[in-house]
Amino acid sequence: MPTTSDASPDPDLDPAGRIDWLRDEIRRHNRAYYELDAPIIADADYDLLVRELQALEATHPDLITPDSPTRTVGGPVSTQFAPVEHRIRMMSLDNAMDEGELRAWGDRTARRLGELGLDGDVRYVCELKIDGLAMSLRYESGRLVQAATRGDGRTGEDVTANVLRIAGIPHRLGPGSPEVLEARGEVYLPLAAFEALKERTVAENAAAEAAGRKGRPVPVNPRNAGAGSLRQKDPEVTASRGLDFWCYQLGDLVGAEAPPSHSAALEWLGALGLPVNPATGVFTSLDEVYAFCAHWVEHRHDLPYEIDGVVVKVDDLAVQAALGATAKAPRWAIAYKLPPEERTTLLRDIHVSIGRTGKATPFAVLEPVFVGGSTVGLATLHNQDQVRLKDVRPGDTVVVRKAGDVIPEVVGPVLELRPDALAEWEFPTECPACGGPLVRPEGEAQHLCVNPDCPQKRWARIAHFASRGAMDIEGLGEQQVALFLELGLLDDVAGIYTLDLDRIRELRGYGETSVANLRAAIEVSKRRPLANLLFGLNVVHLGQAGAEALASALGSLEAVRTASVADLAAVEGVGPVIAESVHDFFADPANAALVDRLVAAGVNTEGPERSVLPQTLAGRSVVVTGTVPGFSREEAEAAIKARGGKSPGSVSKRTFALVVGDEPGVSKLTKAEELGVPVLGPEAFRELLDTGELPG
Ligand code: NAD
Repeated sequence: MPTTSDASPDPDLDPAGRIDWLRDEIRRHNRAYYELDAPIIADADYDLLVRELQALEATHPDLITPDSPTRTVGGPVSTQFAPVEHRIRMMSLDNAMDEGELRAWGDRTARRLGELGLDGDVRYVCELKIDGLAMSLRYESGRLVQAATRGDGRTGEDVTANVLRIAGIPHRLGPGSPEVLEARGEVYLPLAAFEALKERTVAENAAAEAAGRKGRPVPVNPRNAGAGSLRQKDPEVTASRGLDFWCYQLGDLVGAEAPPSHSAALEWLGALGLPVNPATGVFTSLDEVYAFCAHWVEHRHDLPYEIDGVVVKVDDLAVQAALGATAKAPRWAIAYKLPPEERTTLLRDIHVSIGRTGKATPFAVLEPVFVGGSTVGLATLHNQDQVRLKDVRPGDTVVVRKAGDVIPEVVGPVLELRPDALAEWEFPTECPACGGPLVRPEGEAQHLCVNPDCPQKRWARIAHFASRGAMDIEGLGEQQVALFLELGLLDDVAGIYTLDLDRIRELRGYGETSVANLRAAIEVSKRRPLANLLFGLNVVHLGQAGAEALASALGSLEAVRTASVADLAAVEGVGPVIAESVHDFFADPANAALVDRLVAAGVNTEGPERSVLPQTLAGRSVVVTGTVPGFSREEAEAAIKARGGKSPGSVSKRTFALVVGDEPGVSKLTKAEELGVPVLGPEAFRELLDTGELPG
């Protein structure tokens, strides 16, 4: 049972008991979602409960009741606002979770039309399903007189004062407005406004904490933050949040003839001055409809707001009327749901992993969940401050988000489900691998294991030295390094060049050929460019791009070893932090001895032998925000410059692309969205460096 509720049902419950439990559970979630704008579980987990109830009701029709949540719309109507009766009901939508369900809806529609004697070609309108809050706007003689939420479909909440403060909603319609026109659509919070709200809340919380007060929960997603922003007592608060609106339906109409089709109605609404989303298509086959849906599965992140699906509607209004509706949703429309990017799951524990430079990174050990297209069981929590800021604790139910090619993220805890007296997580004081102390250097966010003999560090360092980006020794992968370390055949990176290959030949799984191959791979590695050697040395903060910059600017290992901090920092792409770290590394006698042994083994110490990198970004300006996995900030910029590009600090009309890493800056993202500058994740960035092309 994929729910994270604390009140799990007895698995042996009979169907009637299970149905009762599901209904109670769904009603509880409806209240939290619709009334309080603070859901307890992710939408995808809620949908699983509803689907289970629908399936049980389908097999036990005698147990169906008219008040079942499968037959009612929305949740209870809050008493915070005056009630508004909808003249035409505002309904929900049935869902299609995949192509098969979409086509099944198409077949059902065609069959029903056949039964009604309305055979013939069906035209479909496809629209984005905006993830926001349904809104009914009533215009009388072109003037906005009332705005109401959907509520339970029959009665909504009067939110006119708040809606009047949403800049994108016209107070007056253009010429030709009828006596009464009801425009329906979705109020939503654009991503940039959501990020700004989050940032503001974090800042306000810090100030509150400093003053000994408790902060407010940081908003978890744009949908709920948007609904909360709209359903405020004080319209000023709504005004400050930056909500927006897309109109997608004509409702009540008096004093004018309704257009013949939904697409014509949309055109009319647009002409009257209402914002109608341009990403709308009219198609005559389900193949085209599905292609539209598949396109938006791929491109949802190109939009500056969130969508959770595509709504497919039969275009002809007379055909719509003939098809009618079920208790809850029109038969003439279906919502094709996009794969979920958020799930709720249990945070089983927080562990710490030790990297090759000793960096101790906390990560979440989760009850595995399918989200954003893959099963996620682990997610990085970056550092101690992030864990504190998010206030996630082992035993919490947490929201996990994975969007596109972005790495999975633990968004935050669901406080309603936090068990009593759940202890805060403390950063361990000892390295989980060697038991040595973990220290957090002054002014830094990271903890480090400072024991030079830590076995985990030793293993990771040697594996890194032999890895593809460094000395690229085929046949010496992570497992082989672990084995040779365990058998005492290897101790440090220089030991690779004095490996006892005769003993290795005796090991299980090894023979003449594999040992000969390993010997050859080790020999070949001695000729790798200087930059690879520098990168392989495991210098803190020095990545691939930094190593390349040093090798090409200084030309030899000796020059790098003996350079002052100032000389190192003067190299383009090497800032003061890397310079200091490189200098410290070579100043350490143990490292110096290690490097001497490598030199004695015959590794290449001169450079650069590599040819100049292809100038894939010549004349282009690529801005970076946040930390791109695999690159430090300086390295990402150096990688762009090494390929002929520029990497300025801000986004402008001339920016070719914005690369977004972890914890990006909101202002750059907002600016890029405003100017239509393509926004790239880490994978797309690598592709851009290699090819100079934006992903298709
Ligand atoms: P729905 O959100 O799946 O579909 C109906 C709604 O889609 C409409 O009311 C309208 O607001 C919206 N919509 C957006 N773009 C549209 C367009 N172009 N044309 C027409 N409508 C458009 O159904 P629902 O009944 O409103 O809500 C159910 C959904 O809400 C669930 O599937 C779940 O995602 C979420 N929910 C979550 C929880 C929770 O606890 N997490 C609780 C209740 C509901």
